[in-house]
Amino acid sequence: MQALILEQQDGKTLASVQSLEENRLPEGNVTVDIDWSSLNYKDALAITGTGKIIRNFPMIPGIDFAGRVHSSEDPRFHAGQQVLLTGWGVGENHWGGLASQARVNGDWLVPMPKGLDGRKAMIIGTAGFTAMLCVMALEDAGVLPDSGEIVVTGASGGVGSTAVTLLHKLGYQVAAVTGRESTHDYLRSLGANRILGRDEFAETRPLEKQVWAGAVDTVGDKVLAKLLAQMNYGGCVAACGLAGGFALPTTVMPFILRNVRLQGVDSVMTPAARRAQAWERLVRDLPESFFSQSATEITLEQAPEYASKIMSNQFHGRALVKIA
Ligand code: NAP
Repeated sequence: MQALILEQQDGKTLASVQSLEENRLPEGNVTVDIDWSSLNYKDALAITGTGKIIRNFPMIPGIDFAGRVHSSEDPRFHAGQQVLLTGWGVGENHWGGLASQARVNGDWLVPMPKGLDGRKAMIIGTAGFTAMLCVMALEDAGVLPDSGEIVVTGASGGVGSTAVTLLHKLGYQVAAVTGRESTHDYLRSLGANRILGRDEFAETRPLEKQVWAGAVDTVGDKVLAKLLAQMNYGGCVAACGLAGGFALPTTVMPFILRNVRLQGVDSVMTPAARRAQAWERLVRDLPESFFSQSATEITLEQAPEYASKIMSNQFHGRALVKIA
């Protein structure tokens, strides 16, 4: 089998495509022949060694994949069946999807939802799945299309671009926050009604004029603090990311004076029933155009180059990795 292998040398992370014997795969009851994987922000952190994502080397990165069951000791899966996987620590502490095969626990696999194939599933990937969880979190908080405008930060990234697409399709008015003018046309084509510059979110006060009924935040830090200060009474922020930093320099004012809800969103340990619901919603709510607009297809060998592009904010949309 072929795999992108991460190794450590003098504290630096090195990434290279290597051939491996299948018998080196980790323990698990289902072996999958991988057709597609994708590059997410977390993969970029791991591959470039920017974030402490990986503690045990050598490691195969890739926090998501889609493929066909090669062999299974789990009665729920049979050889040839199409499956996908996101999260569960795969690509972080268990060998992941940037390889031609993976061996995993059957509990982590999702049978390919009707209406999707492996390629489409990985254009969505962890990023799109997380975007759907964020939209569902807003719905759970009672934020509906007639509640008011929704703001999405880090809008041209994987999570952000899918959130803009989904919210627009569901009938919400969407404002996109981006640090790059070059992405404005792309964001408009996905359905953003207006676009705001990231630099407008640099400073904040405890409370500002109320602007947003809901927010999907992939950035954190001062941007999230500003969103909180600008939320409408009773609004909800679905916070899933830290592309701008993990700090949160805010006050309790939005919570105690405006009844604002800050809802955390995690995609890694999402329970199976919520996962199935989110994938069903993705099949139903993503327009067909999303799959051609948002994907750049790359090879396993190109993954390190694209991971660097993601880290230096020179890439937008989804990087789809063709394995088979
Ligand atoms: P991505 O494709 O790299 O997108 C991140 C976007 O954030 C960039 O496109 C950029 O958008 C913006 N950005 C980049 N650097 C920034 C900076 N220094 N300050 C402010 N904004 C910056 O990443 P992704 O896969 O969408 O993930 C986005 C975030 O969500 C990451 O922090 C990731 O770890 C997190 N995430 C969390 C979960 C979860 O389970 N909680 C799941 C998936 C992802 P613009 O150029 O448009 O500004």
